[in-house]
Amino acid sequence: MSSPSIVRTSTAEIYDAHVMKNYARAALTLVRGHGTQVWDDAGQVYLDFTSGIAVSALGHCHPHWVAAVQRQASELIHVSNLFRNPNQGELARRLVGYAGPGRVLFCNSGAEADEALIKLARLHGMRKAGEEGKCYKIVCAKNAFHGRMFGGMSATPQEKIQKGFRPLVPGFAFAELNNVESFAALVDDQTAAILVETIQGEAGINPCTPEFLRGLRRLCDERGLLLMLDEVQCGIGRTGKFYAFEHAGVRADAIAMAKGLGGGFPIGAIWAGEAAAELFQPGNHGTTFGGTPLACAAGLAVLDVIEREQLLAHVSRASVTWHEALGALAREYSQHITAIRGRGFLVGVQMAADPGPWLVSLREHGLLAVASGNNVIRLLPPLNATVAELARSVEIFRAVLTAKA
Ligand SMILES: *Cc1c(COP(=O)(O)O)cnc(C)c1O
Repeated sequence: MSSPSIVRTSTAEIYDAHVMKNYARAALTLVRGHGTQVWDDAGQVYLDFTSGIAVSALGHCHPHWVAAVQRQASELIHVSNLFRNPNQGELARRLVGYAGPGRVLFCNSGAEADEALIKLARLHGMRKAGEEGKCYKIVCAKNAFHGRMFGGMSATPQEKIQKGFRPLVPGFAFAELNNVESFAALVDDQTAAILVETIQGEAGINPCTPEFLRGLRRLCDERGLLLMLDEVQCGIGRTGKFYAFEHAGVRADAIAMAKGLGGGFPIGAIWAGEAAAELFQPGNHGTTFGGTPLACAAGLAVLDVIEREQLLAHVSRASVTWHEALGALAREYSQHITAIRGRGFLVGVQMAADPGPWLVSLREHGLLAVASGNNVIRLLPPLNATVAELARSVEIFRAVLTAKA
């Protein structure tokens, strides 16, 4: 008598059969995480320098974060924005503490935060022109990435992202990053705002220079434009300041944030300075899920840990030796690595060729990293990655380069 056979279907097979194919996923199924490490379904451990694309700011399953989310989940998860909840108010208060006098609006992702900025710019333009439809244009940067909803996608001048979805939202113009004159040349009476990523994350880690940001600030002041900074990827401590634009000593009129804010829980937000913050009034914007007690508990836990463990200072300090070691590696293997860019724990390793095979080799040697545009490998350790873990990433990179040399 034969026993009934147990049919096990692999996760890969289930994906192939049932999940839409909008991602070229790595052949890796992750099942568990702890700190900077993740484990796959075969028990293999990896140093996770993807942080879920700059999301898991505290690494995986930080005990303070887990306790806060568990406690909140057993108390109150969701009530809608028809009512107040203490966590949303408190998280807004803490974010205003970092960004300056103003107000916060909550949503659920980076794309939604960028949509909110774009809608804010339209309201600002209407206030400026005195009527709707006269002042609505936004000048963005070439190679920008502002998410995949219609507004943000229209602000993202990349064929691979826009193809198939035209017609796009009108009113976006694209200037040269780090060239204030190029932005000024595109500003006219119909322009309401300038929107840039403080550090372009998807196009190969291209930072705005401090002079450029200060020039944009002046241009916005002269022409009555909102300076809107997309800090979805580079914000929440990733560069060693809470917001990356703080390095330039400028102030924004509005900021988009998301990725690291929830430490793995989906949450997005915008902050706007006092004048712009008044533009949203009852009824003209909203989202059912924005700022739930649970999402805001996750955000508060992230801020708690950043503050208690002094992670901004840690990122600033630890990144110095890490960048030096990566720079030395680049000089040693200059036939493969042509530049190192970025700030703090947001680093782009410019490869001479397609980074795909390198990413596979890094993974086989135990390091997970993320591709970015223009042949760049992105390294995004959690903000609490240790000096030893940062050094280990360089060792693994070296081993991979040596094996290929
Ligand atoms: C990731 C990202 C977005 C989009 O965020 P989602 O949460 O993926 O919608 C927008 N802007 C920047 C700069 C990003 O890095």
